[in-house]
Amino acid sequence: MENQIPNVVPLNVGGRHFSTFLSTLLRHEDSMLAAMFSGRHQVERDKDGRYFIDRDGSAFAHILEFLRHAKLPPPDHAREVYVEAQYFGLQVLSDKLAHFKDVREEIASKEQLFKYQDIEALAERVLKAVPPVITGTSKVALLMDSGWKARSKVGDVVPNVVPARFLENTTWQTHECIQGDNSDYIESLCPADLPVRVALVQQYLQRRGYDVSTKLETCEFSLERGKKSVWSDLMTMDVFCGVHGVVFTIS
Ligand SMILES: [Zn+2]
Repeated sequence: MENQIPNVVPLNVGGRHFSTFLSTLLRHEDSMLAAMFSGRHQVERDKDGRYFIDRDGSAFAHILEFLRHAKLPPPDHAREVYVEAQYFGLQVLSDKLAHFKDVREEIASKEQLFKYQDIEALAERVLKAVPPVITGTSKVALLMDSGWKARSKVGDVVPNVVPARFLENTTWQTHECIQGDNSDYIESLCPADLPVRVALVQQYLQRRGYDVSTKLETCEFSLERGKKSVWSDLMTMDVFCGVHGVVFTIS
């Protein structure tokens, strides 16, 4: 059964009222909007008989402007209009909006999120270590490397060779490490594409209202600085914490 749509169409889009010619709504015939008003589908009416669409009315005003006389929204509305253009299947408008700065950024970050699917999980891990009410700042580290390292005076790092006398002195267990407020060791962060991943986690958190800065750090805590080497009496050495990771400072 065909539904007769009048030539002048009264619309209610998310509570905002519009009137426009049917021909305006049908302008891009391959769009979802044109399909809705083609007469082949039932469109819900509100109590006043207006055709009701449960979408953002203010963005729809821009959609209508585009359909009427190909006018594009101002740049600061491009992103929300893009979302609606996609919903209404207005490919021509979507393509034009894809050149706006905000929309390009949005598309690029979605593509990156798709490529780096662990970003949300990494952000979640960071948030897990942050108290719900942050007083001042909170530091969280995503760690890539841990374990005590010994280093000779000339700077050669020799991992996993730590003198027994050091391990017997347990004060190192409670040192203030880059792990910051979280006492739990956070799983290691994959070093592949590290700068991109860190930037995306930071962006993810910023978009959710957090102030975030990041820094690559190594914990230099040392108990044995300047002591004699286990290998040679002529050489001094340094046993240091060496926990290495990205520190997120969040406020
Ligand atoms: Zn440390």
